[in-house]
Amino acid sequence: MPHANLIGGEWVAGADAAANVNPSNVADVIGDYDQASLADVDAALAAATVAAPKWSRSSPQVRSELLDAVGSEILARRDELADLLAREEGKTLNDARGEVMRAGQIFKFFAGEAVRIQGERLDSTRPDVGVEITREPVGVVALITPWNFPIAIPAWKIAPALAYGNCVVLKPAELVPASARMLADIMQGAGCPAGVFGLLMGPGASLGHALASDARVDAVSFTGSVATGRKVLAAASAHGAKVQLEMGGKNPLVVLADADLDVAVRAALDGAYFQTGQRCTASSRLIVEDAVHDRFVAALKQRLEAQVIDDARGPDTTIGPVVSEMQLAQDMRYIELGRQEGATLAFGGERLRRATVGYYLSPALFTDTANDMAINRDEIFGPVASVIRVRDYDEALAVANDTKFGLSAGICTRSLKYATHFRRNAQAGMVMVNLPTAGVDYHAPFGGRKASSYGSREQGRYAAEFYTTVKTAYTLAV
Ligand code: NAD
Repeated sequence: MPHANLIGGEWVAGADAAANVNPSNVADVIGDYDQASLADVDAALAAATVAAPKWSRSSPQVRSELLDAVGSEILARRDELADLLAREEGKTLNDARGEVMRAGQIFKFFAGEAVRIQGERLDSTRPDVGVEITREPVGVVALITPWNFPIAIPAWKIAPALAYGNCVVLKPAELVPASARMLADIMQGAGCPAGVFGLLMGPGASLGHALASDARVDAVSFTGSVATGRKVLAAASAHGAKVQLEMGGKNPLVVLADADLDVAVRAALDGAYFQTGQRCTASSRLIVEDAVHDRFVAALKQRLEAQVIDDARGPDTTIGPVVSEMQLAQDMRYIELGRQEGATLAFGGERLRRATVGYYLSPALFTDTANDMAINRDEIFGPVASVIRVRDYDEALAVANDTKFGLSAGICTRSLKYATHFRRNAQAGMVMVNLPTAGVDYHAPFGGRKASSYGSREQGRYAAEFYTTVKTAYTLAV
């Protein structure tokens, strides 16, 4: 039996279904997942529109308890969910467990936020008039998510949306319906009212576009590539919906000569290659000061030698497969392009054979690269990183900022002066000092600048900006 979509509190079968395939073993089909139709989009939005007035006025206690119950259930079932996530997306079990726990913690965090929605009261400039500023739900929110964090990204959109009183329709990425489907199960089991949460699985070009374009949708929160984000923006803003986009990155990690080399190499290894480099915050440009360049490259290569690239659920695996054949082809294309551009492939970049047929790729490290090469301009989104040699800190900062993206930027240094200067001058939404560019907390704002993001921040208390609208009320006491 295929896994159905959730529309108006009912499991609704689709006319057809798509197989969800394990990237570690393409012979392993996880299940068949119903593909929603345009009529299903209509029905899900109709149900959300009907549910919205009541849910928007529901007691914060009710919303808090729902989110808390969902968070508890996710945490209680973390091993089962992590296994499913690793099986459908290809990150290691350890990373998958971390992501599942993150999803649970996010629901718990917003369970607290639901009862902490704040307003403001001002005295008017007119006598006897009071001014009250409150936050109200936006209404019906469409959530469109990518494949690389199959449970955490849906969680960090669903939890604040519901906490602040909105109704939600989620369209997860085609490659990873199982985690989203399991989350929908958990939402149902926790007693989520009909229409408050809906799930539509299937292709983005039709379903995602239909959701973003529909006038019943008051806000669209999207995470994915820049190209798709721009389409979502055009479709949603054409009818005046609020839009939030989190997109790609080409994140720099600067390594200065005074860095603790071990810390820097660990940050590069984790940031560039863990989770198969498939993170929007991945450190894909390693900008290394000349004086430490050769030692850094030698140490990083040594660490790469020791990685175990294998089945995501294998006990010793440190790097799982690439998510899909298409993504693997893109990674290989860029590896070839890097060679043609004159970069030196100092490590890896080869397709690997393992006990099962999967999309295995050895982590690729380019040296002798220039920042204007395509491998340093475009987001590759795989286990591929480049070293860019620079003279000094000033050149490092200039190279770090010379990109259309601005999501995360890191620096490894023991100098307070350079760390402080970098924090202030890096053109990125997030700055990391002596840490990988990837890896963030659930209670702090997340987002970028330039082509990486559009609209207000996600996560933490800053999520209220997007999921609420401000009302200013003036009252004359008579
Ligand atoms: P994608 O843009 O291909 O797809 C993202 C989502 O959009 C999917 O659900 C897809 O079905 C849907 N979609 C596709 N076409 C659409 C359309 N025309 N209208 C509406 N929706 C449509 O991205 P992906 O390949 O799933 O994910 C990888 C990308 O996501 C990378 O660029 C990565 O950097 C980015 N990402 C960004 C962040 C962040 O927070 N900045 C986090 C994770 C991933």
